[in-house]
Amino acid sequence: MLLARINTWMIKKRLGKIGYHFAEFPRLTYSGQYGIYINIPFCYSRCSFCPFYKELYQEDLKNRYVAELTEEIRRADISGRPAFIYFGGGTPNVLSEADLSGIVAALRQKVTISDMGIELSPALLTTGYFQQLHGLGFSKVSIGIQSFSPAVTHAVCRSGNPFEHIRDLVSCAQESGLRVNIDLLFGLPSQSRDIIIRDFDILMQIRPEQISLYPLVVSKGHTIPFEPSLSAEEQLSLIEEAASHFSGCGYARKTIWVFARGDAEIYDTSGSEIDSDYRGFGAGAYTMCGGVRVMNPDVYSYIAGIENKKPYAFVATAKKQNDEMRHFAKMLYSQFIAGKNSRSPAVRMLTTVLEARGYTRQGHLTRKGKLFAHMVSKTVMEELPFPLICHSSIINYATYGHYKEAARSAVGTVNRDRADDERGSLEQTAVKHRMARLD
Ligand code: SF4
Repeated sequence: MLLARINTWMIKKRLGKIGYHFAEFPRLTYSGQYGIYINIPFCYSRCSFCPFYKELYQEDLKNRYVAELTEEIRRADISGRPAFIYFGGGTPNVLSEADLSGIVAALRQKVTISDMGIELSPALLTTGYFQQLHGLGFSKVSIGIQSFSPAVTHAVCRSGNPFEHIRDLVSCAQESGLRVNIDLLFGLPSQSRDIIIRDFDILMQIRPEQISLYPLVVSKGHTIPFEPSLSAEEQLSLIEEAASHFSGCGYARKTIWVFARGDAEIYDTSGSEIDSDYRGFGAGAYTMCGGVRVMNPDVYSYIAGIENKKPYAFVATAKKQNDEMRHFAKMLYSQFIAGKNSRSPAVRMLTTVLEARGYTRQGHLTRKGKLFAHMVSKTVMEELPFPLICHSSIINYATYGHYKEAARSAVGTVNRDRADDERGSLEQTAVKHRMARLD
């Protein structure tokens, strides 16, 4: 795997050079081929493995956030028909139907919506929510399960996923006209091979339209309080086992990590965002436009910026080589290398070497090519610096620090006890829903 090592070293080196300036959000225009990502950075608790930016849920803060998010969409220069629209987080299902309805209405005033997906955390889901999502124009949902094993979810401070609860949620979403993806994560503490194989069996009983098997990613600047239970090679070996397990049940492999039934467009934020331009809305949302990368700041700085009509963000101009690498990474992720006629000499050379060394056969990844693709895709996800968690990537960090402090006192926080009460009552609601299902 010398080739994989050389490539991951090159990716680390290139992505490591990306530096962000905390500056005014640049003027960006979107009309052709692009996507939209809406970030809802609130969670009821923090899972110990999670590298994403999030704040603990507070009702008052969420309400204020939704108002400013809607305003950001109203002001954005977006038009046409986006190739994808995803709501992610955090936990987008902390939003009520009315919250979502306002955001979707703001989008509809600007763009034509044809396909819209949303990530959901199973703990608080109720059957009625799926009907509301379908009524608002959502076509697909992604439920973050990560593991069906109570020992594994408990070890990462996450609520469990009882089989009956998840089975009922999936069938209810399907009856509401939504396509369902389920995410599993490999490498969590206590997560043995046997536990993962048992999860495959459970999935085949539940039969979502799509299954995404992600390796545990330890992003730059993020630390986790445990050792990953599986190496990158072991993760891929289990994904290969899944491929033969699932193919007998009508699932086809769509990318190195995604399996699906039928021909419908898959739910794939990671794949869509590898090489597409997209406009991210909301705190912590990432934006790509031409050579420009932008990440919105934390919730408080974000709200203050929109309210003052002068939003700030982390802005970086990408190097041309990084874009070439993104295209190459997308080809690897999609399992087919069509780089012979690329304008990039580096991509042409890599395409030739992969074919000559048996990593591809007529462009299609072989078994060792898949390990190569797995390692490269994982490295891109781990090494791409996200300024909100990788502070060393912010060139003028002191400027951001002062801005954030001022924004925090301007926006204020709700009473901590009240926030805890709200979270406590939401968690109790989740437990009640689950108990009602199990009765
Ligand atoms: S994994 Fe999901 S629910 Fe857990 S902290 Fe991260 S965003 Fe929140």
